[in-house]
Amino acid sequence: MVRVTSLINCKAYIKFKPVRTASAITVIDGRIHYVGDSEKATRIAKLLGGEVVDLGGSVVMPGFIDAHMHLDSLGINLNSLDLRGTKSIAEIKEKLKEFSVRTTTKWIRGRGWDQELFAEGRWINRWDIDEVVPDRPVLLVRVCGHVGVLNSKALELVKKAGVQLKQPYFDVDGEGELTGIVRESGLGEVLKLIKYGEEELLKYTEDAVVHALKHGVTTVGLTGCSHEVLSALQILNSLSKLKIRARAYLNHELLPYLRKLGIRCGFGSSRLKVMGIKVFADGSLGARTALLSRPYADDPSTKGVAVISKEELARIVKEASEAGLQLAVHAIGDEALDMVLRAYGEVLSHVRALRHRVEHTSVIRPEQIKKLSEIGAAVALQPHFVITDWWVIERVGAERAAWVYPFKSIINSGVMVGFSTDAPVEPINPWETVYAAATRGAYEGVNLYEYSRDEVLDVADILHYYTYGSAQLLHSEDEVGTLEAGKYADLIVVDEDPLEVDLKELKSIKVLATMVGGEFTYLSRELSIN
Ligand SMILES: [Zn+2]
Repeated sequence: MVRVTSLINCKAYIKFKPVRTASAITVIDGRIHYVGDSEKATRIAKLLGGEVVDLGGSVVMPGFIDAHMHLDSLGINLNSLDLRGTKSIAEIKEKLKEFSVRTTTKWIRGRGWDQELFAEGRWINRWDIDEVVPDRPVLLVRVCGHVGVLNSKALELVKKAGVQLKQPYFDVDGEGELTGIVRESGLGEVLKLIKYGEEELLKYTEDAVVHALKHGVTTVGLTGCSHEVLSALQILNSLSKLKIRARAYLNHELLPYLRKLGIRCGFGSSRLKVMGIKVFADGSLGARTALLSRPYADDPSTKGVAVISKEELARIVKEASEAGLQLAVHAIGDEALDMVLRAYGEVLSHVRALRHRVEHTSVIRPEQIKKLSEIGAAVALQPHFVITDWWVIERVGAERAAWVYPFKSIINSGVMVGFSTDAPVEPINPWETVYAAATRGAYEGVNLYEYSRDEVLDVADILHYYTYGSAQLLHSEDEVGTLEAGKYADLIVVDEDPLEVDLKELKSIKVLATMVGGEFTYLSRELSIN
């Protein structure tokens, strides 16, 4: 039997570039069949014995597509201590003490602190944590995800596991004592020690899916996916619990296995696909590990770090390309981007066809934008960084301000662009990202705004790149990204018209319902469907 649903009496944004609207949509067996007026949509539903959902004038639009995020980390985050916005080390201690009583996991995890906000004016260290939790291992990851702080118990376990506790990955103080701060690959080693069982991982992944759907995200790009997470996604899918569409970029260590199996970009189903490989070229601006072409303005002793050699990056890019796998390379600093451009330059014929991606491009020189456009590479941007990285001008200096998050310049140059949150690094709520792209921190007093107000984007453009644009990055624009007939009915109902509200109100827009493949996967209590 066919499943027929007509959504009527709504203002449906079918697409955003150019803007096209309709007042009704008919969905047959998960796909959009008709876009037009309520009368005809009602007739089709009645004729085929389907249901008619009167939306009472609500706004409908394509579901958001978050091209770069981390489902597993988001799930772990939802189940760990949230330290975002904490204003002092004292406040962290208080929260941690309270949380340690509630949580039963072996390791106590927290995430989201930012030393720039601390009233104490210094970094947090292991002795701070020891004061409240001396007997269980604690890891609190910085907001950027590239740096963390461990307590003494955790350092002890890490040492016991054979990890070398050495600089530059484990900080020491003036007396040569470990401070508990751990960076980049050091943090990677620590995270490897914290193992999750299959059950736990399934729960975390499912929690993250439910959370994302609630915020109107209908497809996600998992940029950095382990074989355990891929397995969890498959299990959820087989249980009909993968209510979101997932596109996976596997950790580059898995490249040899993908090659051996002959798995190419697009392997899987419309629900879950393997796209390619995720690789890191550098770190983050917050931790001054993003690789810049010139030293940091606020620390001339460093220009950041390459976390992979040029040769190794070029080899991975070549092997993945020849295997028909798409690349997603993390490059935040402009010198890291130079490395990626060089590596992509050696596999030119594959770049456009496979839509090789660069993740973040936070600091990007004008000629690099031109080069990306020429070679046909794609970029995954995270506009919310503009607000979180409010200190960025201090890091790079005023002369380089024009190179920082130049979203409009990138779009105008014709580069393929998709939007994302890097959740849990930034909030998964897409409206926070839409707001950030439309305002660039103007209302938060973000310094960068003063230097780059020309880079603010129109809301319709933002919504286009956050739906269709992201779909393109995931090779999925024929399936999703707009509400045109033939595509999957992946859509959301929202409480305000994003093209009509005041810019300040954008981040308060609420998702009332989310539909994936014709099935309501989230329904708020506020929406009375009759
Ligand atoms: Zn990421």
